Amino acid sequence: MATEYKTQKGQDFDRAAFESLVKRKNFYWQSFEPHGAVKGLFDYGHPLATLEAEFLTIWRDHFVRKERMQELKCAMITPYNVFKASGHVEKFADFMCKDPKSGEILRTDHLIKDVLEARLKSDKEARGEKLEDSSEADAKKKKKKVKAGAVVATKLDDAVREKYEFLLATLDDYTGPDMGALIKEHDIRNPVTGNEVEPPVPVNLMFATQIGATGKEPAFLRPETAQGQFLSFQHLVEYNDNKMPFASASVGYSFRNELSPRSGLLRVREFLMAEIEHYVDPESGKKHPKFKQVRDVKLPLLSRSIQSEGGSQPAHVSIGEAVDSKLVDNETLGYFLVRIALFMERIGVDAGKLRFRQHMQNEMAHYAADCWDCELLTSYGWIECVGCADRSAFDLTVHSEATGVPLHVREVLKEPLRIQEWDAQLDKKKAGPKFKKDASKVQAALDKLDQDFREKLSLTLDKEGKIEIDVPDMETPKIELDKDIVKISKETRTVSTREYVPNVIEPSFGIGRILYSLMEHAYWTREDDVARSVMSFKPTVAPIKVLLVPLQKDVRLMPLVEEIEEKLDERHLSYDTDTSGVSIGKRYSRNDELGIPCGITVDYESLEDGTFTLRDRDSTKQVRAKLDDILDAVESMVKGKETFSDVQKRLPAYEGKEEKEEEAKAA
Ligand code: AMP
Repeated sequence: MATEYKTQKGQDFDRAAFESLVKRKNFYWQSFEPHGAVKGLFDYGHPLATLEAEFLTIWRDHFVRKERMQELKCAMITPYNVFKASGHVEKFADFMCKDPKSGEILRTDHLIKDVLEARLKSDKEARGEKLEDSSEADAKKKKKKVKAGAVVATKLDDAVREKYEFLLATLDDYTGPDMGALIKEHDIRNPVTGNEVEPPVPVNLMFATQIGATGKEPAFLRPETAQGQFLSFQHLVEYNDNKMPFASASVGYSFRNELSPRSGLLRVREFLMAEIEHYVDPESGKKHPKFKQVRDVKLPLLSRSIQSEGGSQPAHVSIGEAVDSKLVDNETLGYFLVRIALFMERIGVDAGKLRFRQHMQNEMAHYAADCWDCELLTSYGWIECVGCADRSAFDLTVHSEATGVPLHVREVLKEPLRIQEWDAQLDKKKAGPKFKKDASKVQAALDKLDQDFREKLSLTLDKEGKIEIDVPDMETPKIELDKDIVKISKETRTVSTREYVPNVIEPSFGIGRILYSLMEHAYWTREDDVARSVMSFKPTVAPIKVLLVPLQKDVRLMPLVEEIEEKLDERHLSYDTDTSGVSIGKRYSRNDELGIPCGITVDYESLEDGTFTLRDRDSTKQVRAKLDDILDAVESMVKGKETFSDVQKRLPAYEGKEEKEEEAKAA
């Protein structure tokens, strides 16, 4: 169901006004506009490109530096065999339904969701209830164009309404065939044409390409950064001196040929990801050395069981309790959920618009032990922004099997172990003349037999004097070996190393989605004038840190403006100088829309006593002090050490009459 969406000040969120600001201020736009924009591809202008850069600086500090991760950069063009081995060629697909008459392709889960939500909205309307948000109002406007019967202002039976609500809450658990049955049962049609649709079929989402001109080396643009990291595992573990646990991290582009890109930056075809692969010994119980530091942190957890009962309210549980009760599978996964929540808080995500949703059983990859998505609330509803999955040993194992190259950890044991094992050896002198060049294949087949089977064969050899084994690569794959040529015996050996394939916990961040959500969370309008919007980015992430304004367009003020510019440069603080002739109030408010947190004003008092005012974007309050004190305060806020309230406690407040009057006039 569409969720009521408010700004951080509790105002109704006006998406049209927000989009107009984003456009006006050049945050982003559709790529290649002059040639006709392509869906799902976007360019970022300076404010958003810089916001992204600030985001990445904090992300690297919070994860790579703090957790001592190894950052790496892997190739994006990836040979076919990599994704064949990882299972992406077979499984990286979404289900789609075709409208046979119009030829339109619809993503199956979106189709069901859109139609059921539209029916619930029109039911609400028919029952005379207030529509909740602008998206519902949009749906109302569109209704006239819709022929499908999907949106007809009709009342639903209580049982049907409850069923639809339940289906929407549990849709993530449906497989393709399940969704096909649902479409039939509820007569779900293409909402635009009203036509029945064909049953769902999987469509692979990877962009195919080729390496070189011959066309003989098929490849894909990677849909995630993870596989490159797994295939570098041997380099990583060596660099880490074989010590475990440890993590790798990579920031880079991924490409997905989404069936129906929509909702602006939320579902695109090319996007920046930041992925962490944390490698852990499965026999350690996936404990995390720093878990005790976060045990008491409470997180909003929407568990599988709440969802399967149709619920959507998370429970606030401490991560210690969640791991103890096995709601969250293990400490390492729990540790990362907390680190993700702290990161979101650090960049300024609204804590009340964040939750962790556990994947339903059918939603998880078959090998995954547990999976939680960090979702952020936007005007489009709850959006998955970070996937946090326990991928077990799956990826390293499949690549190792496909290539024959070991991707494992070799641990030197503290105490060497004496172990007894069944050993099966050919008598080389006799096997050579008998099997010639195939003798090594026969020995390799014996080496592959597991211990139980070797024990059974030894009994057969004793009883019958011969055994039969499979050697798949030979012309006659069934080979008979008699007791003159093979010996199977129990041997004792000393081992000083243990080899194992680590398990992987993977937090995977979609950066565009987080930035978009952050922009919505930051957006609000001034109570006294809805036309004056503000982007309340924290000073740490704000694309531009300082707005420098002379009180008036007056040449006498310019030498001081230039002096401040130089000092801001020395401190590596980004700034915009607005010397235009418009009123100071207007200059402040048009830069509030860019989210510039600090405003430094040069006025006539500055000429007299060398003091300047520092204005806080959100409260519009000001303090006045000598330049170095002002710049120290700005720097401290940009580094996240102080807030403006802290600064207000130590620098004198300023009530600039002239400026206040001007600001009021501008409003
Ligand atoms: P996944 O590998 O599907 O779990 O995706 C990992 C993260 O990438 C998600 O949590 C999203 O933040 C992001 N993501 C996935 N698909 C898209 C898309 N089409 N557009 C933007 N972000 C995406």
